[in-house]
Formats: sequence, C-alpha cells, structure tokens
Amino acid sequence: MDTFTESTADIARNLARIRDEISSAEKAAGRAEGSVRLCAVSKFHGADKVLAALSCGQMLFGENRVQEARDKFESVRMTLTRADPSANLPELHIIGHLQTNKVKKAVEISSCIQSVDSVELLREIEKRCGQLEKSIDVFLELRTGEDSKSGYAEPASLIESARSIAEGLCPHVTLRGLMTMAPLTDDTDLIRNSFRTLRCLKDEINSLFPDLPLTELSMGMSADFKIAVEEGSTMVRVGSAIFGGRGTAASPGEVLGNA
Ligand SMILES: *Cc1c(COP(=O)(O)O)cnc(C)c1O
Repeated sequence: MDTFTESTADIARNLARIRDEISSAEKAAGRAEGSVRLCAVSKFHGADKVLAALSCGQMLFGENRVQEARDKFESVRMTLTRADPSANLPELHIIGHLQTNKVKKAVEISSCIQSVDSVELLREIEKRCGQLEKSIDVFLELRTGEDSKSGYAEPASLIESARSIAEGLCPHVTLRGLMTMAPLTDDTDLIRNSFRTLRCLKDEINSLFPDLPLTELSMGMSADFKIAVEEGSTMVRVGSAIFGGRGTAASPGEVLGNA
C-alpha cells in the first residue's frame, strides 16, 4: 500500500521524539504540560504500522479516506481483540475531505469528523447519526491556505454552521473544535497567520455561542506543529514524521491534503 514506511523501531523512536518536541513546545509557549494531543495520521500506511504505534501507547489516529480507514481499522480491531477481547481500541478521527455519499460509513467507524466543511455535510452527518442513534463529535474546517481544497472558504459560512448546531438543529452532533491546514510554504509568518486566524475564529464562536463545548484547535502537521503549539493548538495531526513519507505512488484523485 505504501512505499517508504518506517519499521516498528523507527515508529517508536519517531513517536518518542515527537512527544518530546510537543512537550518542549508546550513549555516554551508557557502552556500546561499535556495540553496538546497527538493525532497520528496513518493514511497510506498499513494496519501493521497502526499496531506498532498502538504498542507505544498511541491511541488516537487520523485518516483521510473512509474506505481505507474502515478496512485498516477493522483489521486492527480483529488483531487486538483476538489477543485480548477486552483490549482498548484506538480512537479514529476522519480528517480528509468527506463526500456526502461517504458519510454513512464515516460515522460508523469514527468518533469525530474533523473535516466538516459545509452545512450540507453537517446535515448529512446529523441524518446518518440519527439513523444509527449515535452521537458524534465534529470539528469545522476553515480554509486558511490557498492551496487547500477543503474547508469552509469563508469564516461567515463556518459561523452559520456553528449557529445551526448551537440552535439545536443537529442533536446528534457535538461541536468540539475547529481545524485547519496551514499553507504549504516555508514562510513561517504565513503559517503562523493561518493558525492565528483559526484561534481568533474560535474565540469569536466561543463568545457568540458560549454554550457550545468548543475547546479544540486542530492545527499543526509534521512540518509546522511547533508553530501550531505556540499559537494555541490543542491537537496536532502528524503523519510522515511518525510513519515515514508516503512516496509518490498515489494515483490521481488519491492525492489528498498537502501531498
Ligand atoms: C496528511 C494530513 C496530515 C498529516 O500530514 P503530515 O505532513 O504527513 O504530518 C494532517 N492533516 C491532514 C488533514 C492531512 O491530510
């Protein structure tokens, strides 16, 4: 499936290093120890890599594509429960652009959809969760980089979606946070601006709708998570720095995120 993946020992070493870097960045920014969660992005890497990360205590994973995530995490679940029926199962977040026709599967396999980027998608998530009698967490994604294809293009439309949740129109959906991907650039000012924009939008939504439990800022990836921690991130989504590069073998249409 993947091209350049790391060995189990590499994954353990990478995870330890990234946890260290997160906690140094927390300290440097005067933030509480443990205030930033690490979401390990396992897209393009197989179930064996997820199991390797799990064995290092990594419990939260992010995936872009629903079908890939379902197959992989079903295999992980079977491996774990075969060894121990009461094993703790990993938590899975969907972080990639989600098409409406994938929502049913997405809500079946995940506890949070971080990439909500339209009110139509939100309504579909509510509808499917209603049918399943399941509650789900969502993050609303803001497009802050011009090269990104997903996310609300306008803060105003994101706020309208937050309003519809605040007004009780999506009883199966809990709005927990906001998410963004910074632009793909070496210009750290642009990256920092992107994270600040998201943080200000969260402040605005918190003051408009104080009853929403919106506390999370999902921002920062392998290349920029230290800046994100400085700017108030509560969850960094790190893929290649843990699992290795994804190579160049992805077919068109499978190239997601900041490939
Ligand atoms: C792939 C991806 C990540 C992780 O990116 P890396 O640069 O590999 O750390 C984070 N967030 C989203 C939305 C992604 O698509």
